[in-house]
Amino acid sequence: MVRDIIKKSLDRNMLAEEEIASLFKVPLFSEESAMIISASRKKSESASNGLAEVHAQLGLNVAPCPKNCAFCSFAVRNKVFTEKIEISVDEAVQKARQFEADGANAGANLLWAEAGSNPRDTEKETEGKRGMTVRDCIRVLEEAEWKVLQGPSKFYGA
Ligand code: SF4
Repeated sequence: MVRDIIKKSLDRNMLAEEEIASLFKVPLFSEESAMIISASRKKSESASNGLAEVHAQLGLNVAPCPKNCAFCSFAVRNKVFTEKIEISVDEAVQKARQFEADGANAGANLLWAEAGSNPRDTEKETEGKRGMTVRDCIRVLEEAEWKVLQGPSKFYGA
């Protein structure tokens, strides 16, 4: 059953809701679970032409948000961020150039690379370190035996 669902997905067919639900019921430490992980890697490699990309995230500003959604750390009511902070253009350019020098392929956020790059990224506000550096992302991908793209993103590059 699981084998059939995996084959269906690898053949680029949409899975039905009940098929997806059945995959969630597969025991973690089982042969079928390993098959799902292997298939997931195949799908990722197929979608990215076998190359991993690191897209760095650069925060330009942060401020308490008056919309006040209860779950959100930006909401005024949650008092995580109490003042407006904005980095300068020069600082933004310097950080973006550093991302590029470190090997980032683009400036969006796929594998989360933002440590130290966001105005809200302070030890006081975030209980230590948020996100990963570009170099950390590359190291993690390479440890997982991904080839990491050098140069501009194939998705967003020129
Ligand atoms: S989710 Fe957060 S940032 Fe977005 S509107 Fe709600 S409070 Fe504001």
